[in-house]
Order: sequence, then C-alpha cells, then structure tokens
Amino acid sequence: MQVYTMILEINPGIFSLAVNGIKELLAKEKHPNIEIDCTILNENISSLESIVKLSKDLGGVFVDFDPVQILGVGNNSKYKFQSDISGVFKMQELAKKYNIEITSPEKMKLIEKYLKNQNIVMPCYSYCKDMLISPKGDVHTCWTIGEVIGNVLDNDFVNLWYKALAKNKDVLTGNKKECFGCGFSHSRMPDVGYSHIVEKANQIRLAHIESKSFK
Ligand code: SF4
Repeated sequence: MQVYTMILEINPGIFSLAVNGIKELLAKEKHPNIEIDCTILNENISSLESIVKLSKDLGGVFVDFDPVQILGVGNNSKYKFQSDISGVFKMQELAKKYNIEITSPEKMKLIEKYLKNQNIVMPCYSYCKDMLISPKGDVHTCWTIGEVIGNVLDNDFVNLWYKALAKNKDVLTGNKKECFGCGFSHSRMPDVGYSHIVEKANQIRLAHIESKSFK
C-alpha cells in the first residue's frame, strides 16, 4: 500500500494510530460522523483504491477526495500531476462495487478536469464566505490565488476586504482566469441540488459588492 508507506515514512506509526482511533470511535454505541479525507498527490494517485478498501474494512466510512492545493501557489505551482490518472477511475469503480460513499460525481468530474489540465469555468461558492487568515493575521484571497488582501489587524481592513471583493468579483460567475485551473472542488460545490444555491447566493453577493463604492 504505497499511500500508507508515504505517510509512515513522514511519521512512522501515525497512520496506524489514526486508523486505530477511528476503530475505537466506531466501536462506541454513539459516535460522531466520521469521514476519511484523502488528498490526491502524484505519490498516491495510483493507489487510491487502498483508501476505498480501508473504508470497506472500517464498515463503509465516507471518503472525501480532493487534489492537493498549495496555499497561495496552487494554480501557479510547478507541481504538475502525472498524465496517468487511471487510478482515480479505478478508485471510483471500486467504491461503486463496494457501495462506499465517496466524493460526489460532480466534484469528481471537476477533479478529473483539473488533473487533465482542462479549464474549469464554474462559480466559486467559497469566495466572500470564507476568510483564510494566516497565523500572522494575513488574509489570503482564497486557497489558490496567490494574493494577500491585507492583515486583519489593519484598521482599514474592511475597506481592503471590499476592494478585493470588487477586484475579484468575476470569481462569483466563474469567469476569473485564475479560477480556471483551480481543482479545489469544495470551493465550487457543483453537486446536484447545490449548484443552483451557489448561483443564487453568488447573484446576491455580486449585487452587494456592486452596490458598494469600493472599486
Ligand atoms: S475557484 Fe477561484 S476563488 Fe475559488 S478557491 Fe479556486 S481559485 Fe480561489
């Protein structure tokens, strides 16, 4: 199991500890919802099936996949995925076979486009809603656009925030160039039954931004 090996190399024993912890929680009569989050990397893309197998061994724990996004440099990073992404499809097939719930088909489609280096033209739901604050207080536009809006400790941060929203408002309609190469599926929420909420929410956000004088 290559994916396990990599984690064990970084911190031997940590993976087994995590799995044992999940088992202990699952053994309790009342336990919280548990999910496994798996970041797709070149190092594990050919062995994603092992995570689905692990889920099966644990009785069918939900598994959420997303490709690696590097804060501030995700879209511009030199990190390029290898061209063989067949492991992603094999993993999906196995999940279907075992009836394991994983990331939605709509998100998987987005992830596939990202891995194939194709443009993703889709509104972002996260923008305006989430604020990414570094330990020093610097606020980043989002997970992937390499831009610092300002610092939460700045007295005029509200102005900086609205200026950034106005400058990047195309994010809300999916037309911002930097977003075309963003594979972070959770920021878009393309899932059936959710995309129309994103569209509506973003229309309201856009109208709000445009009603402000921060241009
Ligand atoms: S879709 Fe655009 S705004 Fe949203 S997280 Fe990705 S790069 Fe950032």
